[in-house]
Amino acid sequence: MGNVDYLNRQILYAYWIVAGMVFAVELSYFLFDSEDHRQTLSSLAGRSLLVIAIAGLGEVLYASFRRYGRQIVVGVSLTLAYVNYLNMGLYTENAPGILLIFPMFVPLIYFDRKLLDLFGALNIGLYAAFYFAVERVFYGREIEDFLLMEFMLAASMLLGRTVLIRAIEIGRQVEHLTQSQQDLIVDKAVSQRLLKTDALTQLYNHGTFYEYLEDLVDQCRRNGLQIQVAVLDIDNFKKINDTYGHLIGDLVLKEVSIRVGMTISPNDFAARYGGEEFAIIFTEKTIEEAAEYAERIRAAVEGANYSYMGNHPVTVSAGLSGFEPDDTAETLFGKADAALYRAKRSGKNRVERFDGNRDAVKLRK
Ligand code: GH3
Ligand code: MG
Ligand code: MG
Repeated sequence: MGNVDYLNRQILYAYWIVAGMVFAVELSYFLFDSEDHRQTLSSLAGRSLLVIAIAGLGEVLYASFRRYGRQIVVGVSLTLAYVNYLNMGLYTENAPGILLIFPMFVPLIYFDRKLLDLFGALNIGLYAAFYFAVERVFYGREIEDFLLMEFMLAASMLLGRTVLIRAIEIGRQVEHLTQSQQDLIVDKAVSQRLLKTDALTQLYNHGTFYEYLEDLVDQCRRNGLQIQVAVLDIDNFKKINDTYGHLIGDLVLKEVSIRVGMTISPNDFAARYGGEEFAIIFTEKTIEEAAEYAERIRAAVEGANYSYMGNHPVTVSAGLSGFEPDDTAETLFGKADAALYRAKRSGKNRVERFDGNRDAVKLRK
């Protein structure tokens, strides 16, 4: 809307320029063609004022009826065209018909076919009335001239229509292309998300976990960032599957991942590492704080409601390790995995921190 408003303003300014030009032309006729006895100062002032008044009327109408901005702008162009046509006719035997053709092209600016049809037909009808009421009676203009003029008006209206139809068609194509491009961007975002996440739990997948871990380990080495990794494994999950079936097993996986997601902070990163194992990267925490978070997750999983399998207990074991100088993504994960192994061996449903010798850790990926 703002755009059309701007356009209307520009055209209304142009009318002032036209009014100024008319005044200049009138003045030059008055000054240099004074032999013409019809040119008097009062008629100069009268005609110039008329054009200025029309431009002014356009402004007033536009300010009062903003909703009909286009109609006002086109209407003013039509009025100005006839007044100028009449003015010119007073000096020359034949006023230039092109003046009446100009208003045919104003509706094109709005890409508005209805407006073109309406004002085009009005222009053709108006000229017929003008011819029979003024030109024929007062100037004795030939009927051939009238027919030629009407033909030119009709032809320019048709031309305008063709241009408009083509422009609207191209506009639609551009719109369609933009829409397809937007769809592609959305599709790309969705498929990238699918590539990065695990379909069942919506957590990040194994590959994304390592990508992120490697980046963060790099940051730890360069900028002294502190991170911790926790590896979680559901206890006796095989038994849950065997007793209640795979679908219920999936429900438990979802439930556990929800608890993990709810417990970690926004800057932490949780992934489904594989099967019934989860991996978490804690950032901006001390190892003690990370251990508290891991413990909260353990308690949340234990405390959740598993009514769909008769409140069969579900627990997780977790191993935790913090970044130490010279750790790689693999050794950092390996240490957490070793701690997990200890948690399993010492009775499950617990969180263990890595406290052994890194060189003795068996790595897996
Ligand atoms: P532990 O306490 O030592 O971890 O014993 P566990 O039974 O949890 O471990 P185990 O590795 O023997 O069993 C893991 C099971 O997880 C085996 C596999 O069938 C099951 N599993 C892996 N992925 C999925 C899955 O996507 N859905 C379901 N329902 N089960 C899965
Ligand atoms: Mg396992
Ligand atoms: Mg397990």
